[in-house]
Amino acid sequence: MTNVVDPADTEHRFRRNGQDLRVRVAELDADGERGHLLLFGAVADGCLVRVHSRCLYGEALRSQDCDCGPELDKALDLIQAAGSGVLVYLEQEGRGAGLIAKALGYRESERSGADTFTSYEALGYPADGRTYVATARALAGLGLRSVQLLTNNPAKVEALRQAGLLVTPVPLRTRALSERAREYLEAKRTRRKHWIPTDSPPWASDEHNEDHGGRPYAVDAVGLAPGDNVRPRPGHAPDLIGA
Ligand SMILES: [Zn+2]
Repeated sequence: MTNVVDPADTEHRFRRNGQDLRVRVAELDADGERGHLLLFGAVADGCLVRVHSRCLYGEALRSQDCDCGPELDKALDLIQAAGSGVLVYLEQEGRGAGLIAKALGYRESERSGADTFTSYEALGYPADGRTYVATARALAGLGLRSVQLLTNNPAKVEALRQAGLLVTPVPLRTRALSERAREYLEAKRTRRKHWIPTDSPPWASDEHNEDHGGRPYAVDAVGLAPGDNVRPRPGHAPDLIGA
C-alpha cells in the first residue's frame, strides 16, 4: 500500500441512506492491484470487509446483465448497519482485464453462446485475472487479525487467509436482474466454485412482493464459522450473486 496521505487526515462524514458514518480513505497500489480502502467507523477485529472489483456497467449504469451494483449496495447496507467495516474498491474492471475485454467477452458470448469465462479464454484473456495479495496484505496492515468477509468467492477468502487473517466468510445474496445475470451466476458457481446459495425463489419472481422480515432489504447474509465449507445446493436457477 502506498499512502502519500495518512488515512487519519482524510477522515470525514459519509452520508448514505440517511445515515452518517465516519470514513477514512487509504490508497492501494501494489503488485498490480490498484484501488482504495474505505475505512468506515471504528474498524476493529471481526469487522465486516468487502473486497469489490469495479464494474462500470453494473454500478454506475445499473446494467441488469450482472449484479455488481446490487451486491455493492448490500455490502454497504451491512457495513452501515454494523456501524463499521472496510470496503476495498479495486480497479479491476472486467475481472482485471478491463472494459474493452469485458465488451469483447459479452460480444463473444452473444456469438458463441458460451459462458463469460469460456469467452475470455477464447479471446486469450485469463478467465479471471484478479489477484488479492496486496489487498490482503493491506488489510493485515490495518492491524486486523480477523474479519467477516462479505463474499461468495473462495479465492478472496483464501487470499486473506494466506495473509494470516482469520476469515469468516459471509455469503452475499442478491437477486439476479435478468436471465443473462442468472447465467453469469451459474457460470461463477460451476466455473469458479463460487458459493451461490440456491434456496430462494426463482429469479423471475417478483422481488418487490417479498417479505423481508425486518432484515435489510434483499440482504441475506449467512454467518459461517472459520473453515466452514459452503457448497452449492442442488437445483437450478440460482438467483444469488457471487463476486
Ligand atoms: Zn458487473
